[in-house]
Amino acid sequence: RRSVKYISTGVKALDELLGGGIETRAITELVGEFGVGKTQLCHQLAVMVQLPEDKGGLRGKALYVDTENTFRPERVVQIAKYRGLDPQEALRNILYARAYNSDHQMIIVDEAKKIIDSEGIRLIVIDSLVAHFRAEYPGRENLAERQQKLNHFIGQLLRIADLYNIAVVFTNQVIAQPDVFFGNPQKPAGGNVVAHGATYRLWLRKSKENTRIAKIFDSPMHPEKEALFRIAEEGLLD
Ligand code: ADP
Ligand code: MG
Repeated sequence: RRSVKYISTGVKALDELLGGGIETRAITELVGEFGVGKTQLCHQLAVMVQLPEDKGGLRGKALYVDTENTFRPERVVQIAKYRGLDPQEALRNILYARAYNSDHQMIIVDEAKKIIDSEGIRLIVIDSLVAHFRAEYPGRENLAERQQKLNHFIGQLLRIADLYNIAVVFTNQVIAQPDVFFGNPQKPAGGNVVAHGATYRLWLRKSKENTRIAKIFDSPMHPEKEALFRIAEEGLLD
């Protein structure tokens, strides 16, 4: 896969863990409990993708699909300043779409295909992937339909990532489970559909204060290492 490129996360330890950064032609899942920093990393990547290649970016724009109304332009301004970008320009290079339900979320991505090349989009962020699906298709009786729709959506994301050589990042929540999953009393939502759909799965967990620990799980290709980072005013840092 010759033309695969990487978007730096802006955190050296995290880039090393990922083997260079967030990959194009792939889907990277960010999973972890509430407040761990998934949305913060999404903001950071939407800025990092704009940097020139020698600074870790792809000189591209981001499409930011927000399902939970947690996108904060002022956070982009802080991160962009720290990375040496003009904050207003950085904001203009993030094409923002609020998705009000799961159908809307799918339509936004489908429509986006038309503008990926003309706008120079190199990153699609879906924050969060499953929230609407879980809310709209609750319980066992709706599980099959929910998983089928989710599968369709992830398939669409994969095709877009591959066809346009762009990176796709989505966030996922954790749910409690009775037995232990990779040493955790929690597991990612979305079951097998998400597990098989994500190319890389990055598990984030909290440590002391503003420190966080990241680990790639479910991957035979990655070592069982961990990366440390912290969340600061300037964004995510080593
Ligand atoms: P998630 O999306 O995983 O639920 P967030 O990405 O919203 O979590 O992360 C929220 C956390 O990010 C906050 O608890 C705080 O620790 C950190 N954070 C957010 N904004 C700032 C900031 N301006 N300065 C420092 N830390 C911040
Ligand atoms: Mg969030």
